[in-house]
Amino acid sequence: MIPEKEFLWTIGDLKWILFALAGLTVAYIFYRLYERAQLWKLGQPADRLGNPITRGIAFSRLLITQGYGHEKFLRDRYGGLMHLLIFLGASMLFLGTAVGTIEEEFLYPLEHQGVLEWPIGNWYLYSSLAWDIGGLMALAGLTMAIFRRSAIGKPHHPGLLDDKIILTLAIILIFQGFGLEGLRQLGQTSFGIEYLDHPDWAIWSPGGFAFAAFFYEFVGIRADTAETIYRGLWWAHSLTVLGSLLYAAATLSKFSHTWISPANWFFRNLEPRGKLQAIPNLETRETFGAATLTDFTWKQLMDGDACTRCSRCTDNCPANITGKTLSPMMVIQNLKGYVGSYGNALYKAGGDESKVDEKLIMAPAGEVVDEEDLWSCVTCGACMEACPVFIEHVPTIVEMRRALVMNEGRLPETAEAALRSLETRGHPWSGMSRTRTEWAEGLDVPLISEVENPEDLEVLYWVGCAASMEDRSMRIARATGRILINAGIKFAILGDEESCTGDPARRIGMEYLFQLQAMQNVETLDRYGVKTIVTTCPHCFNTLSNEYPQFGGNYQVMHHTQYLQSLVADGRLTLDKTREGPTFGTVTYHDPCYLGRHNGVYDAPREVADAIPGINKLTEMEMHRNRAFCCGAGGGHMWMEDGPGHEKINHRRTHHAIDAGADVIAVACPFCAQMFEDGVRVTGQDENMRVLDLSEMIVQTIDD
Ligand code: SF4
Ligand code: SF4
Repeated sequence: MIPEKEFLWTIGDLKWILFALAGLTVAYIFYRLYERAQLWKLGQPADRLGNPITRGIAFSRLLITQGYGHEKFLRDRYGGLMHLLIFLGASMLFLGTAVGTIEEEFLYPLEHQGVLEWPIGNWYLYSSLAWDIGGLMALAGLTMAIFRRSAIGKPHHPGLLDDKIILTLAIILIFQGFGLEGLRQLGQTSFGIEYLDHPDWAIWSPGGFAFAAFFYEFVGIRADTAETIYRGLWWAHSLTVLGSLLYAAATLSKFSHTWISPANWFFRNLEPRGKLQAIPNLETRETFGAATLTDFTWKQLMDGDACTRCSRCTDNCPANITGKTLSPMMVIQNLKGYVGSYGNALYKAGGDESKVDEKLIMAPAGEVVDEEDLWSCVTCGACMEACPVFIEHVPTIVEMRRALVMNEGRLPETAEAALRSLETRGHPWSGMSRTRTEWAEGLDVPLISEVENPEDLEVLYWVGCAASMEDRSMRIARATGRILINAGIKFAILGDEESCTGDPARRIGMEYLFQLQAMQNVETLDRYGVKTIVTTCPHCFNTLSNEYPQFGGNYQVMHHTQYLQSLVADGRLTLDKTREGPTFGTVTYHDPCYLGRHNGVYDAPREVADAIPGINKLTEMEMHRNRAFCCGAGGGHMWMEDGPGHEKINHRRTHHAIDAGADVIAVACPFCAQMFEDGVRVTGQDENMRVLDLSEMIVQTIDD
């Protein structure tokens, strides 16, 4: 006999009532999404539909790598496996229901008329098995979720009532499903009682078979009662499914991420992560940054609804890890609450704030998000890298800093001093009296103003403020200069014509000063016809390559590690591994955030390190490459003091190097060098550990 089942057994035409209710539920979901989208539209424009082909390809790739591959989720093994089990299990159940409905409504009738031979036969058994495996996988994932919330609770991951409701509903649904299958196996159908007459069919649904056995052997349910209970449970199950969807749509609960998060993948930023958007029309604006909800872009307002509250961002945030109250997850969640309260009221008032309840009117920076949290951020991008739904925390945080700094003049005193120095002296260090060429004394480093045909230069060496004038970092500039001379590169520097790129000003939130710096530097670079720039500092590298095009400055920009790697590869810089010379012992390379995570440069510095003679062993720290832990200097923190009572980020990172057994911390950024020098001193490692830029290591192994 050919295995077959009656899909909507005993329900008959009542199914049309369910189909109608399902249609209404789907319509309500779309209505709620439309309604919410009206709140997002209160925000400023953001081009997230441009480059549709590139965007479509990027989205498809994410569907495979993040959706089915769970690449980011699985970086947290427990949480990733938990989510994967729920995701795959629920997908199989959903598909099973859809396929079953199609079978019942379209394929079986055709088969019974002799038009089709498929799908009757073993197909039904295989689909039953797949369905049960899906249910069991989802159940395993949900059990892990309950255990995680009850036994491995995290202080910054509050177990909200919503989580409990969703988990409870999901578990009820799965048990209802197994119960229904068990009752169906006990019922009298045109093929007999499956549990008794065709156990070889029934066992293909192991969950249902177990329930059938339990009902039959222990509860004493027989065919007549099975049918009655089945009918009641079928309606309960169907209404629980629809009720869960209605709950998710009405409250935009965590479950709604299944609809909004994939949309967030589609609308994600395709530009380099380190690039911040310019404030347009600076001269004519009255307010700057995110002074109120409507100052955020629609995408920033949407981010909150896409957030799944998984806390991966906060778990990877160096500020949070070292004890600050900043939680990037709560920044996004608080903004979501703000959209739901003030945004909703503003929308209903037709955009007229005077009609909005005063209690709902709040400033994003300071009232919705704590001011101290905004200043704790080092803009390292670890949160954005960790986020599986590609939420963009850093631009949102900087937007609120802009409001504080430019509208109200509220910023930490140390940051203010750095900006004042930048404005008056062209660099952010107060109390520094060096010129921009002292580091090159005794070296044959030409000034571009003295070069006859500057267009013929191979590169302009952009030294940067730190490497030009700060004592420790000047050694890096000197090393780089000596290497360029050794390799016979036609290069020059701007000298006193170089001014800060403006990176600290932009990250602190003083966009006006940044734009002045950018325009001045672009004018200088263009005057000399500069085409290729090599930078010491990853912050200069990021700003010159990603942000200066906003002001008409388009150059090929390379970080010095990239350039050194190309010189080695081209044979212009010879590093002899067999030569006798200094030994560096065990070396660990630290990825600077603005070179690695923000710009994806991971391999070039490692290839350089690999080529340096005298390294016994290259080792990686606990967090490296895209997951590297910040040195603590980004986002203007090079000049800002951490509040008392907090562990310093650079001290934590130095411990990572100590744990890796490093004799040398190899760096590629003058800020990192200074932060590690401090870390090595404070941790008492001065005798055992050195901090060296890769260029400083190379220069020790070459002859001038
Ligand atoms: S950018 Fe870095 S410091 Fe700022 S919130 Fe994200 S992870 Fe935390
Ligand atoms: S912002 Fe992203 S990483 Fe952070 S909680 Fe939300 S979804 Fe998770």
